[in-house]
Amino acid sequence: MYKTKAFSAVSATSPLASTAITRRDPTPHDVQIEILFCGICHSDLHAVRNEWSSIMPTVYPIVPGHEIVGRVTKVGSAVTKYKPGDLAAVGCMVDSDRTCPHCQAGLEQFCPNMTLTFNSPDKHLGGVTYGGYSDSIVVDERFVLRVPSNLKLGGAAPLLCAGITTYSPMRHWGVTKGKKVGVVGLGGLGHMAVKFAHAFGAPAVVFTTSPNKKEDALRLGADEVVISRDANEMKKHAGSFDFILDAVSAEHDINAYINLLRRDGNLTLVGAPAKPLGVSAFSLIMGRRSLSGSAIGGIAETQEMLDFCGKHSITADVEVIPIQKVNEAYERLLKSDVKYRFSIDMASLKSE
Ligand code: NAP
Ligand code: ZN
Repeated sequence: MYKTKAFSAVSATSPLASTAITRRDPTPHDVQIEILFCGICHSDLHAVRNEWSSIMPTVYPIVPGHEIVGRVTKVGSAVTKYKPGDLAAVGCMVDSDRTCPHCQAGLEQFCPNMTLTFNSPDKHLGGVTYGGYSDSIVVDERFVLRVPSNLKLGGAAPLLCAGITTYSPMRHWGVTKGKKVGVVGLGGLGHMAVKFAHAFGAPAVVFTTSPNKKEDALRLGADEVVISRDANEMKKHAGSFDFILDAVSAEHDINAYINLLRRDGNLTLVGAPAKPLGVSAFSLIMGRRSLSGSAIGGIAETQEMLDFCGKHSITADVEVIPIQKVNEAYERLLKSDVKYRFSIDMASLKSE
């Protein structure tokens, strides 16, 4: 075991602050990674503030962070895919049971024994896993991803959660050339969804509560932007969408969006507000529409997404910050004031 620097919160109301945590020494199948960048996902904030207490209560202290890119520093004796010096990435999962039907289908994110990167029981050390707001991490090579060498690392980090969480449902629901796609909420996830829709050749309409994001949305690849608080603008799109991705982090009226689906259209929720959302039966019944959810993506699909991003030069639009600004970043996230993902430059942790 060894000590490494990290930022943690000790309660739901405490700010994140500098600390030291223990990591395991690499076992034969492990890869040790020096973390260079870690994105800030709204899920980090939900977890730090224990907003999902009824589903996954937070164990304190918590070290969040699951959008990790870095450089391999050491590998276990049985590791074949990585060597010291390689670029490597870690997303939301660090292990699973590998035997259940979900794992066998390459959908490790649904494995009942999956280990999340933070706030999951740690099979090796006891306690809970600690995430990427840290100097280094040790992960089984099966859960380590390759980063295409042409991508800037600060912008590549958010692909590990915001990227795969939007790529996976769009692939699953057949978003291809010509399908009309809606993206609700232009945050970390939403802006990646716009980039993917554009790359897939699907016309995308962004629904935002922030009029000041209009120009950015168009620059990111949206074909149209609707200010969702404007009922008339919303009405113009009634019954027209093949697919809508809802990436909103707070309570909102999803019926307003379900009603914009065409017959047999689908709305997938990836946003995870703490409170249940009310669904009108009639919004779904009329038009045989469907509502579904989606969680990140499996390891193989995450690699496919990274390779796709390498080929199409896709990264997140990031505001790179030192870790000392993380609490300020959380406050800005709550105000939908991020363009469009914070990415922590982990070199800043060295001075702690
Ligand atoms: P984010 O960057 O904070 O973006 C959320 C966006 O939602 C905001 O930028 C804002 O967009 C919109 N929004 C916020 N409050 C709103 C309100 N009261 N009413 C309407 N719209 C509002 O968050 P994120 O990191 O993209 O994450 C979004 C959600 O996805 C979070 O709940 C997160 O936990 C969840 N998530 C789920 C998965 C999964 O696997 N399913 C993975 C990662 C994250 P506008 O300014 O454009 O309105
Ligand atoms: Zn995330």
